[in-house]
Amino acid sequence: MKSKVDYFENGLGVNENVGNKGLELLDKYGRQRFLAFFHFQEPDHAGHAHGENSSEYNAMIIDDDRWLGRLTDKLRELGIDKRTYVFVIVDHGFDEGLTSHANAPFVILGSNNPDVMRVGDRRDVAATILEIFDVPMARTARPC
Ligand SMILES: [Zn+2]
Repeated sequence: MKSKVDYFENGLGVNENVGNKGLELLDKYGRQRFLAFFHFQEPDHAGHAHGENSSEYNAMIIDDDRWLGRLTDKLRELGIDKRTYVFVIVDHGFDEGLTSHANAPFVILGSNNPDVMRVGDRRDVAATILEIFDVPMARTARPC
């Protein structure tokens, strides 16, 4: 995928690095058609390290929310918020009070696209987004 996109960077680490890079890239590419993916990994790391319901895990989820606000504020500042679909997808939760999880197929997919309103699980996320962007899916690509 790296060779097929205008910009690719992995391993930025903490939320602040990811968020600031996201803001910078929206400034650079936000006035043209774009597809962006920003991965904030800190809640996952805090959850695995400190467990569900830990203050560290909760703080990182709140920090993600703050960065989502800053990124959507940037869309508004650029005047493209009304014509930009935003999808917020989570990785997984944790088993109550633990630093691990069993099979966790249920996730939240939040969007400002009113067509995204249905019950599903993790395997539906990619198919849902591809459908919205009219990317044809091969018949063999159905979830198993
Ligand atoms: Zn994880």
